[in-house]
Amino acid sequence: MSINNDFFRKGADSTYDLQSVGPVPWETNDRIAERLVPTHCCFCGVQCGMNLRVADDRVIGVEPRYFPHNQGNLCPKGIVAYQQVGHPDRLLHPLIRRGGKGAPLEQATWEEALAFITQRWQALQAEHGKDSVAVYGGSSMTNEKCYLVGKFARVGLGTRHVDYNGRLCMSSAAVAYAKAFGLDRGTMPMPDIALAKCILVVGANIAECFPIATNWVWKARDNGARLIVLDPRETATARTADLWLPVRPGTDLAVTNAMLRQLIVDGFVDEAYLAARANGWETVRESVMAYTPERAQEIAGVPAQRIVLAARMYGEADPSLILHARGLEHSSHGVNSVLSLLNMALARGMFGRPGGGAMTLTGQGNGQGGREHGQKANQLPGYRHIDVEAEREEVAAIWGIPAAEIPQAGAAATEMIHLMDSGAIKSCLILCSNLMVSLPDIHTVERALRNLDLLVVIDFFMSETAELADVVLPCSVWCEDEGTTTNLEGRVVKINRAADPPGEARRDWEILSQLAERMGRGQYFPYDSARAIWDELRLASKGGVADYSGITWERIDQEQGMFWPCPSEDHPGTPRLFTERFAHPDGKARMFVVEYQPPAEEPSADFPFRLTTGRVVYHYLSGNQTRRLGFLNDKAPEPWVEIHPQAAERLGIANHERVRVVSPRGAMELKALVVPTIRPDTLFIPYHYGHRAAANLLTSPAVDPTVKIPEYKACAARIEKLDAPAAAEGGVARENFTPSTTPKMFPYAVGEVQDRPSKDGKAF
Ligand code: SF4
Repeated sequence: MSINNDFFRKGADSTYDLQSVGPVPWETNDRIAERLVPTHCCFCGVQCGMNLRVADDRVIGVEPRYFPHNQGNLCPKGIVAYQQVGHPDRLLHPLIRRGGKGAPLEQATWEEALAFITQRWQALQAEHGKDSVAVYGGSSMTNEKCYLVGKFARVGLGTRHVDYNGRLCMSSAAVAYAKAFGLDRGTMPMPDIALAKCILVVGANIAECFPIATNWVWKARDNGARLIVLDPRETATARTADLWLPVRPGTDLAVTNAMLRQLIVDGFVDEAYLAARANGWETVRESVMAYTPERAQEIAGVPAQRIVLAARMYGEADPSLILHARGLEHSSHGVNSVLSLLNMALARGMFGRPGGGAMTLTGQGNGQGGREHGQKANQLPGYRHIDVEAEREEVAAIWGIPAAEIPQAGAAATEMIHLMDSGAIKSCLILCSNLMVSLPDIHTVERALRNLDLLVVIDFFMSETAELADVVLPCSVWCEDEGTTTNLEGRVVKINRAADPPGEARRDWEILSQLAERMGRGQYFPYDSARAIWDELRLASKGGVADYSGITWERIDQEQGMFWPCPSEDHPGTPRLFTERFAHPDGKARMFVVEYQPPAEEPSADFPFRLTTGRVVYHYLSGNQTRRLGFLNDKAPEPWVEIHPQAAERLGIANHERVRVVSPRGAMELKALVVPTIRPDTLFIPYHYGHRAAANLLTSPAVDPTVKIPEYKACAARIEKLDAPAAAEGGVARENFTPSTTPKMFPYAVGEVQDRPSKDGKAF
């Protein structure tokens, strides 16, 4: 019998004594039949191809699968993603808090749970109006589910309050691209990255957050590309760069405006391209002349010489590419910061050229598709506008209701919290989101959620948010259903079913359809499969900016994913955007004057540091999934705070010492990681953890005025030794967070923040 193949057999003893097995002729093994289910990873926006190994109807492993963008590679998260499927923490039955708030959650039947929810919703809506019930979705779901969330809110419940956790992710980039180009999507296939001759990475820890995308950066480097990184930390990506610009958190725009000024001074602007393809250049040109390198240095703390050199490296390269992510976008001026980058890439004439332009690296698995199909507060499927009558009528015709029945725009996710807190929203249905970890200022979030008459959470694990729910409904993980996602390139890929949901868990679209039925709206949700929803989504998107109507599941399989817009089944799809024209009616891009504004909260005598937050390679978003997977959790079981040695020495803080970090909103205790890879005025905490280990106990609730994205990347904070006096008012009760295992940390072995020779020996 093979030691490999009977290992997973039902009833097999998994504590195999390898020494005693001895040689076994392979012909005699009773190998259980295995099949491979081709699909994609459930985690980040790269959406790597993978094959799930299935035996005895159980998902038992993973193999790489070649797709053009991942070329058979998977990162540490992708390799263990399948371990969620049979995880002992899976929710198997509906749960209800029968005794009301404060009572325990108890097992219930689906009949009882669905009746409990819908009777309460009907009563609340009768007394307080339709908008008293809200829906909060997420972007790690398939396009089919994201589409259904928007339709369920507007048609099933008749509420205008529907939004999603993409609001917290890259929504500032989405709005900036839509403003500049009339369309928001990853601008090129990932292999194009390898064609760039200079890559400017702004606020993107590519190596940890999008690990497999890093391969394309390496390929560009192999082809001679230069790499510039603008980041407060010398991240794993920055360590390999020709030039690191250690920017003060929240001040990126001052540097990028100064770089554009330097492009003008040095004659790197493509005036002919701008004249033919863009509007607004003259006013932008005039506005950035005030951003001298010296002024940018004063604002952003980046040496003026480095800014000049960065502009020259970027300006000389042809083509040049800007990759950006949440470090830039999580800001109270996130839209303007992204527009500043787009101005720079337009000035170089790069959009529409292979390997040129700019691209946001979408964080969530379906961060791109999740923002296209109508679960946003102000949007209908196909990127249609909810306030444009003709677009409402197009969608209403597909849904079979009068356009007047579609509610108007509702509150953004970050605004919903305040409406829950004030009592205007009485109930919320949350899917695919863990607000108690992911939203800023968690004290306010907790108060708001506890203030609801009825909180309903659909999840497959008991998240920190589900712990507060009045009803918890168990749902499927990604490979227990089928559908599509759209990755950070704009490539639509197919997710396939490898197993059935365990216990009594149901697929999310089944749950929504059953809730709609009980709300008396079942005729609008007649689905018997995810494919039926997909076919309706295609129709609903037809004619919209994000037109999926020509994409079929069969074509996705045959063509290794398809890029929208794809308006007919004989259309090839659109891998590369803006080759001839932009999506505004005149075909031209729009450039906007954007001025530097400081973060909403600046350091002070009480809070002298800037705190920034982010991700690590071992975890995904709120950690509700990855904190349960042994290998990942072993590597990063608790958060830490990174502090520069100079600051640590001044405060008497030793490496790995437990410390307290305090902001105007709260405090948390955690280990200090003394590393020379962070600015001396900056602290960094990874945000994947819950309860007293949540970095968002500290972060600022300030949001971008246009898009309401929170400013996760810059708030004021101080750091204290634990024997220091208690935290100031606003601090939380200081319960110790005691990890079960010793954290394994990984200090970077790099030099101080100081000038050093570049790759070609030139000092800068
Ligand atoms: S890079 Fe992203 S999509 Fe690919 S395996 Fe890792 S987490 Fe999954």
